[in-house]
Amino acid sequence: MKVACFSTKSYDKEGFDRLLPEYGHEFTYFELKLDEKTVSLAIGFDAICSFVNDHLDETTLDKLAQMKIKNVVLRCAGYNQVDLKKAAELGIRICRVPAYSPEAVAEHAVALLLTLSRKTHKAYNRVRENNFSLEGLTGFNINGKTVGVIGTGAIGSAFCRIMKGFGCKILAFDLFENKDLKNLGITYVSLEDLLKQSAIISLHCPLTPETQHLINGKTISLMPEGVVLINTSRGALIETKAVIRALKKRKIGYLGIDVYEQEEHIFFRNLSEEILMDEEIARLMTFPNVLITGHQAFLTKEALAQISKVTLENLNELGKGDLLTNEVKWRSETK
Ligand code: NAD
Repeated sequence: MKVACFSTKSYDKEGFDRLLPEYGHEFTYFELKLDEKTVSLAIGFDAICSFVNDHLDETTLDKLAQMKIKNVVLRCAGYNQVDLKKAAELGIRICRVPAYSPEAVAEHAVALLLTLSRKTHKAYNRVRENNFSLEGLTGFNINGKTVGVIGTGAIGSAFCRIMKGFGCKILAFDLFENKDLKNLGITYVSLEDLLKQSAIISLHCPLTPETQHLINGKTISLMPEGVVLINTSRGALIETKAVIRALKKRKIGYLGIDVYEQEEHIFFRNLSEEILMDEEIARLMTFPNVLITGHQAFLTKEALAQISKVTLENLNELGKGDLLTNEVKWRSETK
């Protein structure tokens, strides 16, 4: 298939170019994000390959259908950026890469947690300036803490297993309980109990209408003073304004995020010579107890190799009209 690949970075291109001879698809790479304005670049292609902040909204999907493009492969796990109802109406088929490396994301969540707990980011900068003072570097142990995991799918489960190794007590909340995790000694509780009892909370559920702003003023009020909040899932799970208020009051003791509510206008680009216009991320960056990474949790060699492979396999299935292993379908009960 002739594939128009949007939001392309060098690492995407490397991953696909390595495997393309084996699969025979033809990729044209565009750095531009897919939206209603850029979609016309795909005229004459058979399929679209897109990433987390590309817009597959009603207008863009309508334009794709007019261009007779009925195949979309997402090179990511999350699909909150897609209007699935509209895609179904237009007969556009959407495939994703459901679990390219859950460990990559889970390990990044742990990296955020460890950096915050032991202030290694501050130590690194100090030592480079010959400042070997330990003042202000007191951390906290993770061992023995109660960790709350919201969403125990592929990534949440991997995170639970790592935290188990740290000697934590783990509470979980999900719509479905995972038997293997229960056998490991992980306890499923209500969301309310998890929020009340966890010293560390990590978010691993998808962004849906039900989970948008799951972390808000009300849910934060249930959390213990000084709670550590980690989000590697999707920015809009957190109501940023409420989190800023809680950081000011020290209700939230530490915040580690790889995703941000308004990241679409900021992440994946070098803005070092520009004026940052987003007041909320600017405010977040002023807190000494906040650590932000720019949606890089997925970015390991292993994950990239798997993303390219599964995306190309998804294209093969779409091309053959086979049953689609990784199709994302609209479910009327969820939207
Ligand atoms: P998954 O589908 O395997 O697991 C998601 C889990 O969340 C499921 O067990 C599901 O039952 C649960 N869930 C759904 N709605 C819920 C709700 N309302 N409350 C509680 N639990 C709920 O997905 P995954 O592979 O583990 O990925 C999780 C999320 O991580 C993705 O949706 C994506 O947004 C995010 N992600 C981020 C990165 C990154 O680079 N930062 C990379 C990959 C995925």
